[in-house]
Amino acid sequence: MPATTAARPPLPVIRPGLDPRPGLSGLPPASLGEWFAARREPAYRARQVADALWRGHATAAGEVRTLPPAVRGALDKAFRFDTIGQTDLRPSDDGMTEKALHRLSDGALVESVLMRYPARGARRERHTLCISSQAGCAVGCPFCATGELGFNRDLETAEIVDQVRHAARRLAPVGRRLTNVVFMGMGEPLLNLDRVLEAIAALNDPERFGLGARHITLSTSGVVPGIRRLTALGPQFTLAISLHAARDPLRDVLVPLNRRWPVGEVVGAAREHGRATGRRVTYEVTMIAGVNDTDADADAIVGLLRGDLAHVNLIPMNPVAHTPWQASPMPVIERFAARLRAGGVQTTIRRNRGQEIGAACGQLAAERAGEPAAPAVARRRELIVRASAAALRGERSAEPVPAGVGE
Ligand code: SAH
Ligand code: SF4
Repeated sequence: MPATTAARPPLPVIRPGLDPRPGLSGLPPASLGEWFAARREPAYRARQVADALWRGHATAAGEVRTLPPAVRGALDKAFRFDTIGQTDLRPSDDGMTEKALHRLSDGALVESVLMRYPARGARRERHTLCISSQAGCAVGCPFCATGELGFNRDLETAEIVDQVRHAARRLAPVGRRLTNVVFMGMGEPLLNLDRVLEAIAALNDPERFGLGARHITLSTSGVVPGIRRLTALGPQFTLAISLHAARDPLRDVLVPLNRRWPVGEVVGAAREHGRATGRRVTYEVTMIAGVNDTDADADAIVGLLRGDLAHVNLIPMNPVAHTPWQASPMPVIERFAARLRAGGVQTTIRRNRGQEIGAACGQLAAERAGEPAAPAVARRRELIVRASAAALRGERSAEPVPAGVGE
């Protein structure tokens, strides 16, 4: 290599910017009509585009053969039919689970997981899609691979909806439909609530995606003002609270947001939501061996939820590289469930799906972002062990609320 080249500073890393063209699936329904009206095009053009988008699964203007070429060209300049650039699919569980890693226009990676539940008795076959609301997450729960990535950015409305359209497009050729959508992928949906609500409106609208509100679940780590906002909107969808522990010292560690909104406030807001909407609230508990799976933990949950319109889901922890923790053994989970039920709390155990492809939230993206260096993993593990040991002694965390999530 010539010396002159070697002396030059390294080339800057060019990170592609976000594509400025709005995604069509995130637009309010009237705006496409207005766009065509401004171009003096007939009103039915908006209908043709909407049909191609929502029924025809179109991913580019060029696919919409009902439109004249000039209109296709103009549409393509102004909007995107698909905000997802590239998708890498990984099937597992004999094709029962399929994990999709999506690359967005600025290179951000997010994931969605499609799960098939075969028909059982009177229950029809279901296809549930778990989607992301943010790239990364600021909350930083130590058992979660997304938490390890940190926060990158909020997803746009269309980037949320297009994960769902992508899965529907994959199911259509085999004559299947998506039946459920859960916001349990990457990110904290209540910290990107405006866009999440716009996305839900698009998914729910019979003129657009057309999925019933009862088939949509929002999971939150406990953003109390967000829960109250959902309550004010009325019974729109199912609310799931990531509880993990009923005692503040331990929950401070497992869900760092607990330092801002302690568990009593979170459950108070969720209880009010259940009362106001008449909808049962789901509580998720990721079961971690020796950390949150003792009889005392079960009793604390009973003390908190007894008498509420609530349902507890126990989920064995998926292994995550940077934690020293493991899933509680199944007999321990069964004992925990029995104790909750004996205390009058409705409880189910959710068996893990797609573990071998890392279907726990954020894991595939974390792999792609590059494995963290061994010393960083060791340091993080040490911190987690120290914090959880203090919590198990009943000491509340003195750590600050994670940046960007306090308000
Ligand atoms: N941020 C929101 C929604 C996304 S996380 C929330 O925390 O609720 C979705 C669910 O996956 C949460 O209940 C979370 O606790 C759970 N989860 C994260 N990492 C996990 C792991 N390693 N094993 C099992 N569940 C996990
Ligand atoms: Fe964020 Fe949810 Fe993961 Fe916690 S569990 S870090 S809130 S995505």
